[in-house]
Amino acid sequence: MASEIAKFTQILRDSSISVTTARLAIFQTLLKSDRPLKNGEVASRTPSVNRASVYRSLDLFDRLGITTTLIRGWTPFVELADPFKPHHHHLLCEKCDAVTVITSDEMERLIHQLAEKHSFAPSSHHFEVKGTCHNCQHL
Ligand SMILES: [Zn+2]
Ligand SMILES: [Zn+2]
Repeated sequence: MASEIAKFTQILRDSSISVTTARLAIFQTLLKSDRPLKNGEVASRTPSVNRASVYRSLDLFDRLGITTTLIRGWTPFVELADPFKPHHHHLLCEKCDAVTVITSDEMERLIHQLAEKHSFAPSSHHFEVKGTCHNCQHL
């Protein structure tokens, strides 16, 4: 966690942006979460910072590449970008908007093997599974 905070403060300093307690608190909310969050969820999980500042900081984080945004229907979800969170993919529930993080070394290997087969040098990839989550299947 300390090294993530060091990276975070470095990115802000490189852009001549001050590391305020509010920005740090918002970053820690994102760091603690094990799934992408709606902007409103980030705000409610960071009660020490007022809502407007949370939204402004999230805009800033997005511009600086600290976070990435995942759009579900009309709802944007925010999560920390690659330098902070290990590479992963998502299961997206179309009924309740639940987002589950999945990781698989096997899948990553397969993607690279497939690219190699086509003499393709991959720089990044996106993979999401849409469907119905466990809870919604039993409604
Ligand atoms: Zn669901
Ligand atoms: Zn992957």
